[in-house]
Amino acid sequence: MLDKLKTLQSEAEKLEPNTVERAKIRDLVVGYTEQFLAELPVSKGYNNNQAPASTSIFDEAYADEGIDPNELISRTGLEVDVQGINPASGNHLGYVPGGGLYTSSLGDYWADITNRYAGIFYANPGAVRLENSLIRWLSELVGYGAESFGNLASGGSIANLIAIVTAREAYNIVPANIEKHVVYCTDHAHHCIKKALKIAGLESSPIRYISMNHAGQMDIAELESTITLDTKSGLIPWLLIGSAGTTDLGAIDPLSAMADLAKDYQLWFHVDAAYGGFFLLVEDQQEKFEGIERSDSVVLDPHKGLFIPYGLGTVLVRDGNKMKSAFAVSASYLQDINDVLDPSPADVSPELTKHFRGLRLWLPLKIHGLGPFRAALSEKILLAQYFTEKLLGIPGFELQLSPELSIVAFRYVPEDLDPNQFNQRLTQAIHEDGRVFLSTTTIDGVFVLRLAILVFRTHINTIDLCLEILEQKVQILNQQLNSKLVN
Ligand SMILES: *Cc1c(COP(=O)(O)O)cnc(C)c1O
Repeated sequence: MLDKLKTLQSEAEKLEPNTVERAKIRDLVVGYTEQFLAELPVSKGYNNNQAPASTSIFDEAYADEGIDPNELISRTGLEVDVQGINPASGNHLGYVPGGGLYTSSLGDYWADITNRYAGIFYANPGAVRLENSLIRWLSELVGYGAESFGNLASGGSIANLIAIVTAREAYNIVPANIEKHVVYCTDHAHHCIKKALKIAGLESSPIRYISMNHAGQMDIAELESTITLDTKSGLIPWLLIGSAGTTDLGAIDPLSAMADLAKDYQLWFHVDAAYGGFFLLVEDQQEKFEGIERSDSVVLDPHKGLFIPYGLGTVLVRDGNKMKSAFAVSASYLQDINDVLDPSPADVSPELTKHFRGLRLWLPLKIHGLGPFRAALSEKILLAQYFTEKLLGIPGFELQLSPELSIVAFRYVPEDLDPNQFNQRLTQAIHEDGRVFLSTTTIDGVFVLRLAILVFRTHINTIDLCLEILEQKVQILNQQLNSKLVN
């Protein structure tokens, strides 16, 4: 047996490279990522080639023997970091981007090496205190008091799910009364809300889609009349969902008026600020969010508005005890745990063992300070205005809506052609070009392009390039279409 243990140990010890071996692998990864960063300013925002490599590393067998790290890194990189959208690029102007701060990656590196257990206070009081400090800072940012609590989840979708489960438990919704509990939102609420309702077993709750005004904001009069009607017919108005920055248009719902109604009719008021929430760091933007402090729960995505790499969405609940009782369960193997000093992430989340996500947010906030974040967010707002002004100077372009934050929805209106078809072809041309990436949406049957400025690396030169590409592609399309008409 001792011989066998010895053999096994010497093979297993390959899992622990020594200092020299570590440096070798680390230098290769760092060399690769440094090259990636060096090329980033001239990299495309999008590569629409989706064909697999002719000999793909992903088709090779998982062998007992390892392969050369140099070959592994370069071949993997070639197949991963080339195709599709480039989220690290400042030229990513589609959906809701963020970028990925370098200092955050070092937080991940650190957290992965020390592998501190941040799920439960007694397992690592410091790690949990660090995460709770971030939650307190976020709570103060939205204007919640000391009794609030929250969680650093993996993204906005899970954060919204946690909020919805908390709201469900706070209203004692059980299978027998699900169909009586009504949800109110607009058609521009993010689709993850619907998904969360489904996962939470609430798919049969009626959803009232309240109309929006011309600015994409919830119509308050219609909200109130719908709530009144539901109450009269014996239903229970339960969950009011506002968006602070819709994904489509960046519109902010009238949060203050919604908070008033939520109070009058005793609804749970949830604000999805996954995209827009961090604009609260910009002083002249704060009044747009008035009323958010009276919500019951809020979601903010640091992997959007704080430029952290993917994998961090946060949920805050104004009355933290509601969150704790929503997730409270016990298990005998956890009997040693008695977190009297600080509440634990595992008490308010579906997760038990989790990545120590706090460090990836803590490090950038503390290394850079808040100043550069405020400046970057303020810059994005201004860039959206700059883009708008310049775009309207190009004949044929029109706005769907003036930008509320950093999303601009617009289209080109051609002289004789169907505008929806034209703008689809315009999008295709931009995607084939790939230097910048834009996404699209449809508002009341109108196909529009979306420019979402949120990567910290996006500056005025990118916006100028984007305008140049738009003008150029429109010109080419018009020429092609006119020559077709003539022939
Ligand atoms: C991005 C987004 C979500 C979903 O968050 P993920 O982090 O992608 O899971 C939810 N709501 C809004 C408004 C968003 O912009």
